[in-house]
Amino acid sequence: MERGIMKFLEFARICEQLEGIGGRLEMTGKISAILPSLDEGDLPIFVRFLTGRIFPDWSPNKIGIGPNLLFDALTQVVDATRSDIIGEINRKGDVGLAVQAILENKRAGKRSGRSSTFQTSLFSQELDLSSVYSDLERISRLEGRSSQVEKLSLVQNLFQNASPLEAKYLARLILEDLRIGVGEGTMRDAIAQAFSVDPSLVEHAYQAINDLGEVALRARKGRDSLADIHIRLFHPVKMMLAQQGSISQAIAENGAMAAEYKYDGSRFQFHKQGNRCRMYSRKLEDVTEALPEVVETLKNATSHDVILDGEVIAIKDGRPLPFQTVLRRFRRKYDIAAMQKEIRMQPFVFDILYLDGKTLIDDPLRERRKYLEEAMSGCVAPQTVSSDISVIEAVYRESLDAGHEGLMLKVLSSSYTPGIRGKNWLKIKPGVDSIDLAVIGAEWGEGKRAHLFGSFLLACQDRGELLPVGKVATGFTDEELQEVYELLKDRVISESGKEVHLEPFLVFEVGYSEIQKSPNYESGFALRFPRFIRVRDDKGISDIETLDSIRERFQRQSVQGKPGGE
Ligand code: AMP
Repeated sequence: MERGIMKFLEFARICEQLEGIGGRLEMTGKISAILPSLDEGDLPIFVRFLTGRIFPDWSPNKIGIGPNLLFDALTQVVDATRSDIIGEINRKGDVGLAVQAILENKRAGKRSGRSSTFQTSLFSQELDLSSVYSDLERISRLEGRSSQVEKLSLVQNLFQNASPLEAKYLARLILEDLRIGVGEGTMRDAIAQAFSVDPSLVEHAYQAINDLGEVALRARKGRDSLADIHIRLFHPVKMMLAQQGSISQAIAENGAMAAEYKYDGSRFQFHKQGNRCRMYSRKLEDVTEALPEVVETLKNATSHDVILDGEVIAIKDGRPLPFQTVLRRFRRKYDIAAMQKEIRMQPFVFDILYLDGKTLIDDPLRERRKYLEEAMSGCVAPQTVSSDISVIEAVYRESLDAGHEGLMLKVLSSSYTPGIRGKNWLKIKPGVDSIDLAVIGAEWGEGKRAHLFGSFLLACQDRGELLPVGKVATGFTDEELQEVYELLKDRVISESGKEVHLEPFLVFEVGYSEIQKSPNYESGFALRFPRFIRVRDDKGISDIETLDSIRERFQRQSVQGKPGGE
């Protein structure tokens, strides 16, 4: 990559200015004015950084630095204790602000001669955007036992060379939570404005390439470069998502639709080129090694180069098992060999995005289905096409009788829209009153559960911000509480009294009886009788419920006059 010219300090100043802007239009204008001035190397990094990402969305690269490692690195740099740092975070309510304040204090101390350990500017190297990116990339490539020590020293080095303002945004960037309110939509519009191209073209390119950084580079080259989009093997795209719906309304609106079972398993995207195969999870992590038998089954089901979308389920004694149970048991390292014999993993493929060099996402579903059936000799999810409500209802009943989760109804003329939750895919399940929310805080338990978290603060998302909607403390078995604790214990950002503040990372599916308006939570809503259903470790923070859809659920339930809606 060419060496860029933007200083990291300039980037931090831009972040600071954007953080102070309330309106999206003004923000878009400001960003679009900067983009054309960046060179080839800096443009994609700037675009990713500003939207709180370090790597392209398709990349399975992970920075792998949680709050713990970050705090350890900082204790060395500023000669403070962990509790000094955590105390400051509690006071400021934000990691970035706390880091900035600590560095400022140290500088002041240094100037007045009170501290001798703080790195002086004499030894500092000025950080630039591309060197910060290269260091973060190096960190992400470190693996193995000694990696923590090396990571620590690279992070320390970065902070040693950072001014307080740079450190504020560096800390937030490392935790991949920049908190300046620049979402994908804002960046898409800014790119369109900066290079005078149609926002829908930018959106389409982003869906296929899955990296706003590269999209910006193409937009700069011009309309043709942006329109000439092909999905690439081993660059997974986001999964198309479903909305809740009802059979009668869907058929009334669309006529004949494609009906498939809704399998309760784990979503996958399978890429195959010749003998090379990789499988990605819903969060686009590479899970090839975790499910080798599934990869083998899919590989043997086609001789073509393909990208497939599907759901893998676990089957025991002919019935589907909740996939969560299986993953949990694998994690616990029970008798895996015996488990593999007892539990069969079965992939169901329901879509094809790429076939032998051809990108298919813009073809209608009915065409993609033909390609899929031709390319595969097995593993294809059965599909019924009908405009007859009773036929569709029969498929729904059949699905539930066989132990599956419900029904998917798909619009036959629809293209495949990565990452979009729209009306083209509808999910129909009994008792849909469950919701996916981010865990952003917890309280220590009581009595025999005092060493574990007992209650969890949950949040929905609203244009990049996480807003609390309630707490959940029931529905957990002892085993589940232990498991959740293990998943969260390294994500604690700060603690005060019984409460801990957590890095947003884990998603819970929670059942409820009703959504109520409430002044107690920032979202303005609260869940009535929330109960834990399961950890959704197949979902990331960007997949959680939005405030808009909570509002819709609330309105639907008021219209229907019964709790829970539907
Ligand atoms: P939900 O996770 O409740 O939002 O439901 C949507 C999910 O259902 C998808 O992300 C898939 O993981 C899963 N699913 C199961 N069967 C199908 C199917 N036939 N078509 C599409 N998605 C399916």
